[in-house]
Amino acid sequence: MRTRHTEKIISPPPVHFVGDGFRVHNFIPGVYPLTMARMDPFILLDYNSRHFFPPTNKPRGVGVHPHRGFETVSIAYRGRIAHHDSFGNSGVIGEGDVQWMTASSGLLHKEYHEKEFASTGGDFHMVQIWVNLPAKDKMSPPKYQPITNDQMGRYILPDDSGIIEVIAGSYNDVKGPASTFTPMAMMNARLKAGGKALFAFPQSYNTAALVIEGSIKINGTETAHTDQFVLFGNDGEQFTIEATENSIVLVLSGEPIREPVVAHGPFVMNTRTEIYQAFEDVENGRFGHLDD
Ligand code: MN
Repeated sequence: MRTRHTEKIISPPPVHFVGDGFRVHNFIPGVYPLTMARMDPFILLDYNSRHFFPPTNKPRGVGVHPHRGFETVSIAYRGRIAHHDSFGNSGVIGEGDVQWMTASSGLLHKEYHEKEFASTGGDFHMVQIWVNLPAKDKMSPPKYQPITNDQMGRYILPDDSGIIEVIAGSYNDVKGPASTFTPMAMMNARLKAGGKALFAFPQSYNTAALVIEGSIKINGTETAHTDQFVLFGNDGEQFTIEATENSIVLVLSGEPIREPVVAHGPFVMNTRTEIYQAFEDVENGRFGHLDD
C-alpha cells in the first residue's frame, strides 16, 4: 500500500455562532480547499472547539429549522445536547455519544444544550458533520441512530497505547454500529502520548483528521495541534497518526458520491427544482410542525 500524504493542515477559521449555543469553526465548506466536493460525502463540518458556557436557566441552542437531503452526525465530546423534532422524536446526546440523524425527506427540529448541563454550565465541545445522501436516498423516510459511547466498536491498540472508537466503517476487524447509505468510516482515535495507529482507506475515499485534543505527528513527519484539520491527499491509502501527548483525533474517510450538489441553507439536493420543492413542502406542512 502507498502512503497517503497530507494535502493541507488547516487552522480553525474565526468562530461564528449557530443560534446562541453553538460556537463553531466552519471548516467545510469554506476553508480553502474544503469545498463541498473536496470532502464529498462530508459536505459540512462545524466544529465547536472546547468552550466554557456559564450557567443559565434558558438553555442556549438553535431554534426550529428544517433539513432535507442529507444526514447530520453530532458528536459530543463534552457537554450534552437535547433535540426535538416535528414528528415527536426527542432525546439527549450524552457526553461521548453520537447522534446520527437521517433527515432525508425532511423534518423540522431544534437543538439545545441539555437543561441540566445548561443550568450548571460547563465545557462544551462538539462536532456536527453533514453527510450527503445519494439522489436515490434523499427522499427516504427520516430516522435516528442514537449511538452511545459503549455501543461503539473498540479496537485496543498494542501495549495499551490507546483505543480506536469506531462509529462507522471498520478499523481492522472491529466494526462501528452506524448504518450508512454509502461506504465510509468515522472513528475517534484516543491515543496516549507515544501511542500510534495505522489507518488505511481506499485511495479514492476523501479523508481527513480533526485534532480534538492534544498533538499528533502524521506519517512521522508533519505535526498537527489541537483544533487543526488535516486534509489528506488521494495519492495513496495508508497513513499513521502518532500522539505526541495524550490526544483525541476524529478520523473521517468516505467514498465520494460524485453527484451534482445544489445546496441552499438547510437543504442539500441535486437540482434547483428540488430546492424550490423543499421550500414549498415546508410551507405545506410536509415537514411536520414544531413549536419554538
Ligand atoms: Mn439542525
